[in-house]
Amino acid sequence: MKKIQMVDLQGQYAKIKDVVDPSIEEVMNSAAFINGPKVHQFQKNLENYLGVKHVIPCANGTDALQIAMMGLGLKPGDEVITADFTFAATVEVIALLQLTPVLVDVDPITFNIDVDAIRKAITPKTKAIVPVHLFGLPADMDAILEIAKEHNLYVIEDNAQAIGASYTHKNGSKTKAGALGDVASTSFFPSKNLGCYGDGGAIFTNNDDLAHTIRGIVNHGMYKRYHHDVVGVNSRLDSIQAAVLDAKLPHLDAYNTARRNAAKKYNEAFKNHPNITTPTGLETNDGEDCHVFHQYTLNLKNVDRDALVVHLQENNIPCGVYYPIPLHKQKAYKDERYNEDDFKVTNQLVSSVISLPMHTELDDEQIEFITSTVLSFINAN
Ligand SMILES: *Cc1c(COP(=O)(O)O)cnc(C)c1O
Repeated sequence: MKKIQMVDLQGQYAKIKDVVDPSIEEVMNSAAFINGPKVHQFQKNLENYLGVKHVIPCANGTDALQIAMMGLGLKPGDEVITADFTFAATVEVIALLQLTPVLVDVDPITFNIDVDAIRKAITPKTKAIVPVHLFGLPADMDAILEIAKEHNLYVIEDNAQAIGASYTHKNGSKTKAGALGDVASTSFFPSKNLGCYGDGGAIFTNNDDLAHTIRGIVNHGMYKRYHHDVVGVNSRLDSIQAAVLDAKLPHLDAYNTARRNAAKKYNEAFKNHPNITTPTGLETNDGEDCHVFHQYTLNLKNVDRDALVVHLQENNIPCGVYYPIPLHKQKAYKDERYNEDDFKVTNQLVSSVISLPMHTELDDEQIEFITSTVLSFINAN
C-alpha cells in the first residue's frame, strides 16, 4: 500500500507535471514575474469558472479577507459577526483592522455558522457577516443573505475551503460558493482544493465599484501610477503561482469529484455506526457538487478522540483535529462579553471531531485500511 498522507501533493503533481512545468517555464522565459500575462489569464479563467464578474488576485487568503473588509470601508468599532469554529485567519483580520469581532456558535450537523445565533448577535453597530464555508460545505446562504438584507449588512464569504462548491438556493437554482455575498475571499495555499506551489489568494465580487476600489487597495492604494488615493497594501499573486493555478484550474472539478468519491466510501464504511456522525452533503438531493470536502470530518460520540488520534498515528495514518480550541477561548480573541452558554456546539465539537486523510489521490486500499483501523479502535473501546 502507498504511504498514507493527509494531503498528497506529490502524487497530484506527478500527474499534471507535463502541463504545470511548461506553464512555469513560460513565465521564466518571459521574466514577467509580477502582474504578468499569466496572472491576467488565470483571473479571466477563474471569473468564467465561478460566474463572477471580478476576480482580484492577491498574495494569500488572509490578505484577501483583510482587503475585502478594507474595500467595504469598514471602520474601527464596526461589529463583524463570524463563526467561533473556523481557522483563526477569519477573526484575525477583523481584529487587525480594529473592527470588533463577534464570534457566534455553529450548527452541530453542518459545522457552519448558526443562523439563529447571527440574528441574536446583531446590534446597531453590526456592519457585516462573515460566513465561512467550512470544510468545503457552503453555509446557509439564503438565510444569511436574507438577514443581511433585513439589517443592511455586508456579507463577506470566506471561501478558502470551498472553491468549486455549488450552493443550491431554496428555489433550486445554483450559484458557486464565492459568488453569493457582496464579496468573497479565497486561498490558494497548497493544500486547499485549488492550491498553488506557494502562497496565493483572491477576492471575488460582482460589484464594479467595489472591484475598482479593491484593485487599488492591493496595489498601495494607487489608481493612477504614483497617485495614492487611499491607504493600501502590497498584496500580489506572483506570475509563477498564477501559471500553476491556471494549469490546475481545468482539473478542479475532477479534483473535487475525487474528494467526494473518497468521502462517499468513508461514509459507506461508517454508515449507521452509533458512535459516528458522518458529514452531511452527500445524501441530500442538492446535486453532486454541494460539498467539496476540503476536509472529511467525523463527529464522534462516547469515543476518546485523542486516544484515537494516537492509535491512528501508531498505524501510520495521519489525521487532523480542526479545530482544537474555540476561537472565543483563544488568548488573542477572548472577550468578557462572551457567555459560555452561547457556544455549546463549538465547545463540544473541539473535543469530538477528527479529520481523516482527504485528497485527490486516495485509493480504495488506503481508504479500506483507514476505515477499518478507525472502526476496530472504536468497536474495541
Ligand atoms: C486557509 C484559510 C484561510 C487563510 O488562507 P491563507 O492563504 O493561508 O492566508 C482563511 N480562512 C480559512 C477558513 C482558511 O481555511
